[in-house]
Amino acid sequence: MTTHKRKLRTDGTLWQHVRAPQVPCGALARNTSAEVLIVGAGITGAMIADALAEAGLETIVVDRRKPAHGSTLASTALVAYEIDMPLGLLQKKIGKHDAISAWRRSRLAVGNLQSYFAERGLEAQSRGSLYLAGNDLGMRDLKTEGELRRAAGIETAFLDRAALRSRFDIGHSAALLSPGNLTINPRDITVRLLLRARMLGARIHAPAEIAHLARRRGAWVATTKEGRCIRCKHVVFASGYEFPKFVPLKGHKIRTTWAFATRSQPRKLWPEQCLVWQASSPYLYARTTPDGRVLCGGEDEDSSEAVHRDGMAERKVARLQAKLAKVFPKLNTEAEFAWAASFGESSTGLPTIGEIPGRPHCWAALGYGGNGITCSRIAAEIIRSALTGQADADAGLYAFKR
Ligand SMILES: Cc1cc2nc3c(=O)[nH]c(=O)nc-3n(C[C@H](O)[C@H](O)[C@H](O)COP(=O)(O)OP(=O)(O)OC[C@H]3O[C@@H](n4cnc5c(N)ncnc54)[C@H](O)[C@@H]3O)c2cc1C
Repeated sequence: MTTHKRKLRTDGTLWQHVRAPQVPCGALARNTSAEVLIVGAGITGAMIADALAEAGLETIVVDRRKPAHGSTLASTALVAYEIDMPLGLLQKKIGKHDAISAWRRSRLAVGNLQSYFAERGLEAQSRGSLYLAGNDLGMRDLKTEGELRRAAGIETAFLDRAALRSRFDIGHSAALLSPGNLTINPRDITVRLLLRARMLGARIHAPAEIAHLARRRGAWVATTKEGRCIRCKHVVFASGYEFPKFVPLKGHKIRTTWAFATRSQPRKLWPEQCLVWQASSPYLYARTTPDGRVLCGGEDEDSSEAVHRDGMAERKVARLQAKLAKVFPKLNTEAEFAWAASFGESSTGLPTIGEIPGRPHCWAALGYGGNGITCSRIAAEIIRSALTGQADADAGLYAFKR
């Protein structure tokens, strides 16, 4: 097998219960060829397929599951530019110049996504985000973090207790308020991007599992479990947390996370419906949906074993509900949907995107971290540039050999 295989999520996610269009696709019936093979039809594979098909590259997308049925179906889909690692901490880890470049690129990617979705008629809600003080960053640290972000040209306002109370009706010591983030339905967007890629000529096959990959006479030959071969110039692994077995992943880990969705309660939602997350370990985050639900997640644990995590679900969701109620006492925190899922993290909060060392024309887009969807966009931008012979000034930030 070329990639790891995991139980990526439990059943019962909100998006499983929301209607979405179908992508016409079937198993691969015969050997074929293309310029690019994308392994994975989640939100990352869909954005890359759309970008490459639009650039005129002959593209095939395959997935061992149905399209958008991996981690994407479990995502709470707060599309934020704020990287898991605060700018101040990231500067200490990778240096000031690169940390600022990564934060700016993330900001740019969310701005790009907003217009990208709008141009394609895809639904996304523009939201500010509130980063609440917690046990990782207290009030003073938040103030410093806000100053660093502003010095880097990233708009952020520091709110004290009184400001938080009067504008958002939240009783908390302090927060950073950042404008211009998004919320989406990740399943709907993935499916619609795949449909668009298909319209532009991409072929999509699912279920089709890549079991073997070999270099033969200057090309890659990917073989499915059923023995069908796809001959291609480039392979892009957009395989999420089921990353290729041959990639060197330093500092990445796969953990377990929990999430739930409340019933619809449009009248009880907080003013402006900002994304909310807490500078705490374990953290808490929340967003609203257009039909008036609250989606809330966090409580990450190191174990990624399905049996262990499924047994913890009740306790974890109860803890999330209690924390959410503390921030928003007027909400009904009863869970209508609750789920657990694998969740990938990197030591810097940055994704790994690039050509895999020692494997020419074989790419990986591994968007590990809380803003994985923003990383999907960055991956689509970088891979499209590379495959069409253009340079991306930030590619080195995310490369395997950084
Ligand atoms: C509970 C939860 C909450 C999250 N919340 C957020 C959030 O609020 N904001 C945010 O930005 N990100 C969030 N994330 C992260 C984000 O959801 C992920 O980064 C994103 O969904 C990953 O998409 P993907 O397409 O890379 O992976 P996936 O959706 O998992 O797609 C990869 C696909 O590759 C396929 N595949 C793997 N190996 C093979 C093979 N050998 N052959 C064929 N197919 C293969 C799999 O079947 C899978 O469908 C969250 C994640 C979770 C789990």
